[in-house]
Amino acid sequence: MKSFFSLPLSQLESFVIEHGFTKVHAQTIYTQVYKHSKKSFHEIEGLPKKLYPLLEENFIFDFLEIAKVQESIDDKTIKLLFKLSDGRTVETVCVPFQKKYTLCLSSQVGCSMKCSFCFTGTQGLTRSLKEKEIILQYIQAYNFIKEKFNGHQAAPNIVFMGQGEPLHNIEEVAQAISILRINEGMGLGPRQITLSTAGYLPGIKRFKELGSINFALSFHSPFNDERSELIPLNKAYPIEKLIEELKGLKLMKRQYLTFEYLVIKDLNHSKKHLEKIGELLKGMPVIFNLIPFNEFPGAPYKRPLMESVEEFKVGLMELGFHAKIRTTKGDDILAACGQLTSEELEEALC
Ligand code: SF4
Repeated sequence: MKSFFSLPLSQLESFVIEHGFTKVHAQTIYTQVYKHSKKSFHEIEGLPKKLYPLLEENFIFDFLEIAKVQESIDDKTIKLLFKLSDGRTVETVCVPFQKKYTLCLSSQVGCSMKCSFCFTGTQGLTRSLKEKEIILQYIQAYNFIKEKFNGHQAAPNIVFMGQGEPLHNIEEVAQAISILRINEGMGLGPRQITLSTAGYLPGIKRFKELGSINFALSFHSPFNDERSELIPLNKAYPIEKLIEELKGLKLMKRQYLTFEYLVIKDLNHSKKHLEKIGELLKGMPVIFNLIPFNEFPGAPYKRPLMESVEEFKVGLMELGFHAKIRTTKGDDILAACGQLTSEELEEALC
């Protein structure tokens, strides 16, 4: 049986028409499942009686098991641990931001990129997620926060910034995005979605076909030797090549590229870094997101003083870039960027 959550609307329409029903029936199903959180065909209202058994014989609602919920007492961040059908686990973080939640979705179980500052990178890659596993993280996390706040929650934005390198699993990620964007379903706009990459160049070419989705790059240093130490992937795809490719991205009016910059004590926020950044990115529409490094158990780097992060921010603004300091949320449940890990590893390290 096919998962309902790997079914684009066009396929559902063809299926119901083939069996003597109409396009509108397919659209009703899609709207009620995605927009109104119906969790079984029986909960869907307004369909012909004969359509219900047909749907049940052909499609399943194979929801993921929510194995664990952690809620930050500091800032209302919620971390959900999902158990996949093969027993693997993956995490989704719900981050409160301007009166609604943003969902930080995972695209892989673990990650093969081995960034030196990242907790997830210590695990290696177990496998990539299927499109339905990405969609279900969104649907179930959204349902979870809706139930928690008595239904009053706008559709959350998405950032692909959880476990995994989304461009390394771009086909499944692209398919999940296209389903979540269908108007009769979740109807997410391109600007509600941000894909964040360590710089996997082959995936950027495919990303260009996805429309005006927001793009974020883990930048972290303008120098190849330093960046390669932080992100080993940089050895294969050096920063100059990435920048050249990014110059070819079509952006909408007032759309910016986001460059994540992990500020690490005594490492990557000096005057020479500012000079090189100015030289490399001259004229590009970039917003720098400065993230003071979040120490985790066994981390090789230190958190910088806030004054030096402020100084770096001012330096970037003097170069003509936008820059802001991101306050890391969910520190008390280890849900800040680069700290997602499978439950097994977390337990092993504690
Ligand atoms: S920072 Fe992202 S790309 Fe790098 S190891 Fe962690 S999850 Fe993978």
